[in-house]
Amino acid sequence: MIQKCVRTSSVLVALLVLFPLSVLAQTSLASTAQILTVKVTPLGGVDGEFCPQDRALIFEDPNGTRILYDPGRTVAGANDPRLGKIDIILVSHMHGDHVGNAHAKAPNSGTCDKPDTSVSALPNTSAVNIALAKKSKIVTGSEMPPFFAAKLKANGGNPANSILVRFGGSIMIGGVRIATVTALHSNGLDPDFIGGDLGKAMKEVGIAGYVGQETGYVLRFSNGLVVYLSGDTGITADQEIVVHNYYKAKLAVMNIGDGFTTGPAESAYVINDLVKPSSVIASHANEVGTVGGKVRPGSKTEAFIKAVKVPVHIPLSGKTMEFDAAGKCTAGC
Ligand SMILES: [Zn+2]
Repeated sequence: MIQKCVRTSSVLVALLVLFPLSVLAQTSLASTAQILTVKVTPLGGVDGEFCPQDRALIFEDPNGTRILYDPGRTVAGANDPRLGKIDIILVSHMHGDHVGNAHAKAPNSGTCDKPDTSVSALPNTSAVNIALAKKSKIVTGSEMPPFFAAKLKANGGNPANSILVRFGGSIMIGGVRIATVTALHSNGLDPDFIGGDLGKAMKEVGIAGYVGQETGYVLRFSNGLVVYLSGDTGITADQEIVVHNYYKAKLAVMNIGDGFTTGPAESAYVINDLVKPSSVIASHANEVGTVGGKVRPGSKTEAFIKAVKVPVHIPLSGKTMEFDAAGKCTAGC
């Protein structure tokens, strides 16, 4: 009986010692997970500003995986020193201001209002040139992957680095889960990327190549943050049914330029009523959005900020913002 008591009490002591330790371990694991952030760095036309041609963003997962979204014209080609390592390139659609039909000679060439985009990237695209130099994977939906595979192959690259992810599916690369979602816009391939007699004939009659539907993306990073990249789009039911209800995006990158895409009022409706993220990064304003790093009064960017109910972050070129799993900016905003 005494022995049993001793045994019971030593079990109790062991439990008392181990229990707080395990609670402590779990707590510290949880707090470590909470502070892991995704870094978002805009590669725009002019350091510290939000300029008309700015589209490109680099997302860096806490595990180091780096993703370039829509290189556009402000990334100064494959030699842009701001790029560093690029594991994955995302291209929402094939228009020249997203895939990159031309680009600046160097970062900060030209002015915010009149950027220098004098270096041609035809017929390859800037996305392909960067992928070749960085050995990146290009991840796209619709009928875009065969185009990128052919360009990689024609330039001595590996066509297998062009990877397909169509609507409804997803793939995991470098610890980041990547899905494409619908966008409503257009996605013609400029005949200048086709070249030869076919490209010439298409250009003469004013038609573009078919590469399937334009897309947006949903990315799930290793810290749990889910990000919606709108691409160029109108208002779509999928922004609520797919992006909000299913993927539960907590951070959105929303194109606000008007004319070509949703304008400030429509983009604000998408954010407030459909996607409902914790915060949003404005993008693709097609205007001088900031002067001296401050939002320009009377701009579309300002109208968007005023109409949106959650924090709006402005992508100032070269300024890294950090987001936690809940989509809250924890640094650089
Ligand atoms: Zn477009």
